[in-house]
Amino acid sequence: PVQFRAGEHPTPAPTASAAPRLSGLEARSISAWFGDHKVLDRVSLDMPPGVITSLIGPSGCGKSTFLRILNRMHELVPSASLAGEVLLDGDDIYDRRHKLVDARKKIGMVFQKPNPFPAMSIYDNVVAGLSLTGVKVDRDHRDELVETSLTRAGLWNEVKDRLRQPGGGLSGGQQQRLCIARSLAVKPAILLMDEPCSALDPTSTRVIEETMLELRNEVTIVIVTHNMQQAQRVSQQCAFFLAAQGQPGVIVEHGDTDAMFSMPQDSRTNDYVTGRF
Ligand code: ADP
Ligand code: MG
Repeated sequence: PVQFRAGEHPTPAPTASAAPRLSGLEARSISAWFGDHKVLDRVSLDMPPGVITSLIGPSGCGKSTFLRILNRMHELVPSASLAGEVLLDGDDIYDRRHKLVDARKKIGMVFQKPNPFPAMSIYDNVVAGLSLTGVKVDRDHRDELVETSLTRAGLWNEVKDRLRQPGGGLSGGQQQRLCIARSLAVKPAILLMDEPCSALDPTSTRVIEETMLELRNEVTIVIVTHNMQQAQRVSQQCAFFLAAQGQPGVIVEHGDTDAMFSMPQDSRTNDYVTGRF
């Protein structure tokens, strides 16, 4: 596989947005390093269109790194390098023909800690992702985009009367849905979510899970979660990551979520999903 080193890709220029459609993502033999420290070893995973994929496994086994590789955030770390391919609808996002910003536009990310711009209004938070990724939307269509994005994120009814108030004034769960709306406004094909509910209460967690299930037919979702019930509630496919002591992370087992939880093929998966790890 081709090896990419950080800083190899030219600074991207903004381009017009593409129409959204249901897409698939495929990781092929991904290895990753921070300096000489190898943290992933030949990880391959197919994330088909319309399937919610859960990445599970203990802390430190490379789940977040894998997720960041899927939208080219890994290369922002100066010491980071990687090998392998990430195919979006069959097209390698690391191909030199592609600009970094195109990967970011097509592949959105939501993080564990809700990170809206706290002093910025709810409205401006939703459109903030557009300028960050160079997507142009004329003024006349902005209101509509804000409404549809907030609706899809399940937040519209709660905030429609206070769009000019600061995003930081919302509850944690609302802030996370605001971040989801900010991602959706860019119309990504893929939405990556790194432990999106870990900082939230159970009620907000369920609201976000419902949102994910409703989005399933619009955007392909990959979620990292430590919550085994959540993995079973939202995802149709699961991948179990593990790093043996001092070794890079690998996928021990992946497949249909129900099958993995009812009949894990590997004893280590069984130990993990039954909480005996
Ligand atoms: P997980 O999300 O499964 O907890 P991570 O992908 O965060 O795992 O981390 C995988 C390994 O990579 C860990 O050993 C971690 O210490 C290391 N790592 C993560 N980010 C960095 C970084 N920016 N610089 C150096 N090492 C890192
Ligand atoms: Mg992580």
